[in-house]
Amino acid sequence: KASVMDGENIVDEESTKLLEKSVAKSALEKLQEDRKTLPIYPYREELLKAIDDHQVLVIVGETGSGKTTQIPQYLHEAGYTKRGKIGCTQPRRVAAMSVAARVSQEMGVKLGHEVGYSIRFEDCTSEKTVLKYMTDGMLLREFLGEPDLASYSVVMVDEAHERTLSTDILFGLVKDISRFRPDLKLLISSATLDAEKFSDYFDSAPIFKIPGRRYPVEIHYTKAPEADYLDAAIVTVLQIHVTQEAGDILVFFTGQEEIETAEEILKHRTRGLGTKIAELIICPIYANLPTELQAKIFEPTPEGARKVVLATNIAETSLTIDGIKYVIDPGFCKMKSYNPRTGMESLLVAPISKASANQRAGRSGRTGPGKCFRLYTAYNYYNDLEDNTVPEIQRTNLANVVLTLKSLGIHDLLNFDFMDPPPSEALLKALELLFALSALNKLGELTKVGRRMAEFPLDPMLSKMIVASDKFKCSDEIISIAAMLSVGNSIFYRPKDKQVHADNARLNFHTGNVGDHIALLKVYSSWKETNYSTQWCYENYIQVWSMKRARDVRDQLEGLLERVEIELTSEPNDLDAIKKAITSGFFPHSARLQKNGSYRTVKHPQTVHIHPSSGLSQVLPRWVVYHELVLTTKEYMRQATELKPEWLVEIAPHYYQLKDVEECTLSLSLSLCACV
Ligand code: ADP
Ligand code: MG
Repeated sequence: KASVMDGENIVDEESTKLLEKSVAKSALEKLQEDRKTLPIYPYREELLKAIDDHQVLVIVGETGSGKTTQIPQYLHEAGYTKRGKIGCTQPRRVAAMSVAARVSQEMGVKLGHEVGYSIRFEDCTSEKTVLKYMTDGMLLREFLGEPDLASYSVVMVDEAHERTLSTDILFGLVKDISRFRPDLKLLISSATLDAEKFSDYFDSAPIFKIPGRRYPVEIHYTKAPEADYLDAAIVTVLQIHVTQEAGDILVFFTGQEEIETAEEILKHRTRGLGTKIAELIICPIYANLPTELQAKIFEPTPEGARKVVLATNIAETSLTIDGIKYVIDPGFCKMKSYNPRTGMESLLVAPISKASANQRAGRSGRTGPGKCFRLYTAYNYYNDLEDNTVPEIQRTNLANVVLTLKSLGIHDLLNFDFMDPPPSEALLKALELLFALSALNKLGELTKVGRRMAEFPLDPMLSKMIVASDKFKCSDEIISIAAMLSVGNSIFYRPKDKQVHADNARLNFHTGNVGDHIALLKVYSSWKETNYSTQWCYENYIQVWSMKRARDVRDQLEGLLERVEIELTSEPNDLDAIKKAITSGFFPHSARLQKNGSYRTVKHPQTVHIHPSSGLSQVLPRWVVYHELVLTTKEYMRQATELKPEWLVEIAPHYYQLKDVEECTLSLSLSLCACV
């Protein structure tokens, strides 16, 4: 009997395999059919001819027409990959990952083989990879190892209209190499129509337009400004869900925290509505979302249900989700702003531009007529919104790119071929900071420290902190801290109904008022001690996927330490050594307590506050060093650690003088006066 059973099993297994194969095959066939329905498909031959005829081509086509997923495949099919890889850059990590996943499906290959992606701290490519999707920042870093991009036959700078800092720098670099590499094809692709500017910049390169298909979109405005756009957005979602015909909803929020709050409130309110209404499937999407959950937004909505996608700007042009019929646009996004005078950078929530508002609205009219609900007034739209977003290069700290360019041997930054030059003040500020960090010498040349710093794909202050940890013999602790900081603000988890428990769990790591950096280190070490236990994360209200990411980042930083010949050394009990290493990178971010409980930054005096989420928010040490500033209702320092003022003079004597840090000069002289 057993043998019969075995026999049956074998047959079963085989037939299952066959069945799977045929299902897989037909899924592949279906994907191939779908490719032919994209707006770009009828222009395939014409496009290939244009690329063949010109070294540089500007390609314009509406979002969703198939530029990102199809063009690299067309080039591969036409044989370009025989001469080298095709690289396609994306401003956002999620886009690079998700598009690569899609293209590997369409080609029926395993992700990471022929089709792969490369984002900071995550390289999913192999020897076999011929289509490589990557963030623009990663291609920029590839110049460090391969200054002529010899392994590439085509570089496609995609989403060029986003004008991120890295994309703008790439423009200058690829334009330069295209002159001595006539075999390299350069494609600049953009979702907006003002492509003339790109064409002008690339010596009048021809523009190839892909006509889009677009259905009418009805625009609705609010009658009066909304005081609370988050709440207004949620109410609008529910109204659409209850009153409007089938079709999915896309809501734009400014970031992860907002999306998580919205998700929680929506879940709560739909539960309250009971079974009378159709199912509402809530799909968040933002940069730090774990990969497994990212795929969920692309899953087709089941019959009778409705999907609501809660997205950051990422869904504006980088990702196309089929089936969206309603767009809700609160009119804000998170923006970096930079004051070149003080060198202060902060993230703030700001109104979007008209161009963005129109892109957002357009997302609803891809597969049929759509509706866009703007949570601001028509007057706002016409009178208050700027036409276009200012390119990032004009509103950001340039220290990182200046270090990269210096490492590439580009010295004359003022005469670099920028499409839109940054303010020269900002360039000078970057040079000043790199000098202060000892990455450049007085002549503006890269120093040994600078060369080591450039090996790390991190902001210069973080890389300096790591390089300096060598001296304080605590590189082991410092790379854990750097990894935890790189993961962002998604380590601690704080569900609405368990806030007290979550806060208590969190306070455990702050015992002794060690400061936020050391607390992060404690989280990491404790997790490591449990052998990376998931259960431990649950018990301590810590996001396990953030921790896993931190571990990956840390592993890579450890590898890079070896590259710059820094030994892995540990001083787990010498907190001062660790804090001194932190201060070595972040001394420009020091602040001193004021009488009223606020702080003044030391070098360019400005009033700032300790973020309420900081372990030091109730402690208020006299002196702190902070990781970054965020502007919400106030200018907040996020991640702060106490420091001794004399360290500033000890560590950065070229930056701080005694008079900057003397505590009581004023009160002392006053009492002297009284004596006299
Ligand atoms: P463009 O770059 O012109 O904006 P894309 O090539 O990104 O266009 O998208 C073309 C089509 O591929 C879209 O209709 C989109 O729905 C589909 N697509 C893209 N990425 C994915 C993905 N990760 N999963 C499922 N479908 C996708
Ligand atoms: Mg695209």
